[in-house]
Amino acid sequence: MNQRVHAWLAVRAVALLEDTGEAEGLVKLLSPHVKSTFIGTWLPDLNDSKKGFGKIDNHVLKMEVFEGPLKERFVIKKDKLLKLLGRERRMATELLQSDNHVLDDEWWGTPFKADPDPGKHLANRAMAFSEAIIDLLLLGDKQLDRLVPGQIDFVEDLDRKALTRRQQVATYFFMLSHFIADACMPCHTDARALSSYSDGKIHKELERRWSRRIGTYFDKDKLAENKPTSSAILRESREISDRLQVDFDAVVPDLYSRDVWSEVLFVCRCSYAVANLIVPPNDSPRGGAEHKSLKELFPGDNGEIRLKEFDAAILHDAVLNIAIVWKHIWGRFCR
Ligand SMILES: [Zn+2]
Repeated sequence: MNQRVHAWLAVRAVALLEDTGEAEGLVKLLSPHVKSTFIGTWLPDLNDSKKGFGKIDNHVLKMEVFEGPLKERFVIKKDKLLKLLGRERRMATELLQSDNHVLDDEWWGTPFKADPDPGKHLANRAMAFSEAIIDLLLLGDKQLDRLVPGQIDFVEDLDRKALTRRQQVATYFFMLSHFIADACMPCHTDARALSSYSDGKIHKELERRWSRRIGTYFDKDKLAENKPTSSAILRESREISDRLQVDFDAVVPDLYSRDVWSEVLFVCRCSYAVANLIVPPNDSPRGGAEHKSLKELFPGDNGEIRLKEFDAAILHDAVLNIAIVWKHIWGRFCR
């Protein structure tokens, strides 16, 4: 996903929380600072984030068939995955549930596992960042502390400059959104060559497609030129979803799993299954599937209609999943 897609997804998640009346304090924290902080969504992909020793620039969870020990631990049957994801995620309910022929019982009975290098694991990064944000929210300065429910006495003992500011933590929320959105990108969860950014065609094609459909509003130059207010940016994010016919339910559910790590892992598993709907598993890489374009995989007008269903489900879930994790973080202060 490129910058404008990441920016739109995260800003739309703020609007979604606002529209559903969830995590009110968080909406109060994020919405006035959208304009100055949403570029946090771009940071994890920027070349500069490789600075120093940090060769952790890629964040993926690319799964493949696993033949190692205890392989049965890495089987998640379809019914179980659908249950783990709940009814609100449309990649599950609209793409996977209705599929009866592309992914058969044998596929769903296969163990799949990812083995990313240290620091690259998408679920690790989302979980680590979520917990770090919770700690930083505890250390808020006066303005931030007013928004975070609960009372912290030790903050008084800290130097004012050591405390977290609203814009700082808003930037971190946006950075976190990046990892959650990437978990919804099927190609980030699929180890087959066809999903690779450099070797396959569909990864770039999907990204270009979403970018084209979302439009240029969130481009760096445009924003610099137009200088919109935070509320104008939020309004535009809603208009973009209307135009894409991505609609949202009135509720943002809680995490279904016990923590962000498991939740993101199951979201990745869902994305991997969707990658296998886009390029079916029997369309073997050796047969040249990496060279297939979206047009070949989804031919004609019907193909385009089907592809739009994929766009809508994936973009919907990316926004919803960001909102779910943000709401979960905020909920840690509200129980
Ligand atoms: Zn990324």
